Amino acid sequence: MDAGEPGMENIRKKYDGLCDRIIRYNYHYYDLDSPLVDDAEYDALMWELLEIENKYPSLKRDDSPSSRVGGRVSAVFSEVPHDPPMLSLGNVFSPEELDEFDQRCRKNLTGGKTVEYSMELKFDGLAVEVLYENGVLVRGSTRGNGDVGEDVTANLMTIKNLPLKLKSTDPPAYLYARGEVYMSHAGFEALNRQREESGEPPFANPRNASAGSLRQLDPRITESRPLECVFYGTGRSSGIEIGSQDGLFSTLASLGIPVPEFYEVGGIDKIRNFYDSWAENRHRLHFDVDGVVVKVNDFSHREKLGVTTKAPRWAVAWKFPAKEAITALESVDFQIGRTGLVTPVANLSPINIGGVMVRRATLHNFSEIERLGVRIGNMVRVIRAGDVIPKVVEVIHRNDSKGKKINPPGRCPSCGSELKKEDIYLRCVNADCESLRLEKLKFFVSKDAMDMEFFGPELVMRLYRAGKLRDVSDFFRITREDLLGLERMGDKLADKILESINARRKIPLSHFLKSMGIRNVGEHIAAVIAREALSLEKVMGMSVEDLMEIMEVGPGVAESVNSFFNNRTNRDVIDSMLASGLRVEDEKRPAAAGSPVSGKTFVFTGTLSGLSRSEAEKMVADLNGRASGSVSKKTDYVVAGESPGSKYEKARELGVKILTEDEFIDLVGKTGM
Ligand code: NAD
Repeated sequence: MDAGEPGMENIRKKYDGLCDRIIRYNYHYYDLDSPLVDDAEYDALMWELLEIENKYPSLKRDDSPSSRVGGRVSAVFSEVPHDPPMLSLGNVFSPEELDEFDQRCRKNLTGGKTVEYSMELKFDGLAVEVLYENGVLVRGSTRGNGDVGEDVTANLMTIKNLPLKLKSTDPPAYLYARGEVYMSHAGFEALNRQREESGEPPFANPRNASAGSLRQLDPRITESRPLECVFYGTGRSSGIEIGSQDGLFSTLASLGIPVPEFYEVGGIDKIRNFYDSWAENRHRLHFDVDGVVVKVNDFSHREKLGVTTKAPRWAVAWKFPAKEAITALESVDFQIGRTGLVTPVANLSPINIGGVMVRRATLHNFSEIERLGVRIGNMVRVIRAGDVIPKVVEVIHRNDSKGKKINPPGRCPSCGSELKKEDIYLRCVNADCESLRLEKLKFFVSKDAMDMEFFGPELVMRLYRAGKLRDVSDFFRITREDLLGLERMGDKLADKILESINARRKIPLSHFLKSMGIRNVGEHIAAVIAREALSLEKVMGMSVEDLMEIMEVGPGVAESVNSFFNNRTNRDVIDSMLASGLRVEDEKRPAAAGSPVSGKTFVFTGTLSGLSRSEAEKMVADLNGRASGSVSKKTDYVVAGESPGSKYEKARELGVKILTEDEFIDLVGKTGM
């Protein structure tokens, strides 16, 4: 069929409709940072569009989204040209399509012989470019429409892991580094909680939250957002020679520019493993990745392959399966959290999302239920991102007459007391409410708080039912007899549980603060306050004004810390914990940057004799170092205790420096701990 034939009109109509729809979706996604549809739906439409364009090239419009990168450049920022343009990436969706990509590269580069590729994670954030002149960061911009981006220098400069100066005595005359700004899961959750509390709509995902945060007019707002960045490419440069992707990573890293922690270089045979293992393990990362990126490693090969208007011919993205699905909302439960907050939770018709069966998802709060217009019986879209709890994000074909209305409860479903309305929230304020007590107890032993090994929610429940736990101070009074009195409790397990309690009898102030479940105080803020206040006594006596003098502590945090410590019941519980043998250690001032530990990555393997793994990891963190769970080329030291595992072998293979426990203590000692 060609453009003049009958039937063509319908195809043209369809094509135009697709173009217009995708352009509209692009505007909401790139310019407003608030997508109208999810990525899977968008990708399917784009695929359809490309198919039509391939079959009927004469239909292709000049403004087709298939030949354009990103969105428009907002007039509120100055323009920054990109030379060469910042491109997007082509996609493959299966091993077969990856093979086709490999065949094309082989044919054009090596006459059929193997080609070497770099395999990287595809960070789900916002593409940026930064310019260093003589080692100093002078400009930063978004990708924009690829040719021209937005000047967001002041905002980028607030990102903590972006160096303002390069680590070099002889820096390149100029260097354009290209990479991604993204937000951690924890940061994203905290930001959305804050937004909900202040009545602002939550961001749909960490990517949109990053883009929205970076494209702020006031850099102070960007600074308050937990953004991170990583770099995986360069634009033009002078005074620096880079010949391959792995060479690029080591050069950028040597200049102090953050590069991906995980990547590999190898033939096509390695890519499948890399993809499969990250598709399965991506939830272990603290940020979102949406696939892997495969790039020809050798830069001279890249030049031969060239680029199209939209994407390089030497790279492709292989996306992970979608982490969302559509299913029926069967009923709604009301859950009481540890602060008494009532959260509506959707019971769903069970559905497999990215390999996990999902039966429940959060509906956040009642204004969210209203915003979504969701009713029992509706079909809803559910997403699962990283370790984050699945959530209902949209009603499919909203129809107010369909389904049963979800009414907020007037009384606490657990204790029956009247609920208090606080802004858009409902809260149970009965301190004796059983659900509330249990949630507080479960949180206290969880990984986010005291992190008492062997203490799961079920054990908390059993001890509570046995009358051994009322408030968190009771954990420090649990005896062997209490434990042995429980069903299915043996001597060995009881000893292990007691050990895990004893391991927490002496904890640093920062750990104590994050464990108390104070509103708005997570791990980071707890550490910030502890570093400033140094002792528990001091924190307990601080006024709202004293607290607000601490950098990063705003009025919300100051209010909640102050009111927590002024609450009679909380003070009684703290006294009771201290009386039962809990010791909250004074915080030490962090060592100066430039110590042998600062900025270095440590991995621990085997059993350490003089200190626990978490103590050792904390020592590293206190000295501005980083403890990681896996060994890679980026690891600076592997500390090997007794019977070290495979990490030891990997370190030897990669030539990473291995320290004994004594050598580690020596190194830490040198930094004046
Ligand atoms: P993309 O995100 O699919 O891929 C290109 C981008 O990947 C690069 O610009 C770079 O920012 C990033 N990237 C991350 N890690 C990288 C690495 N290691 N190496 C190189 N690049 C890396 O392309 P795009 O043009 O930014 O966006 C298209 C995608 O965005 C679509 O496939 C769709 O999923 C989504 N989108 C969704 C909507 C919506 O309404 N839901 C609208 C527009 C786009």
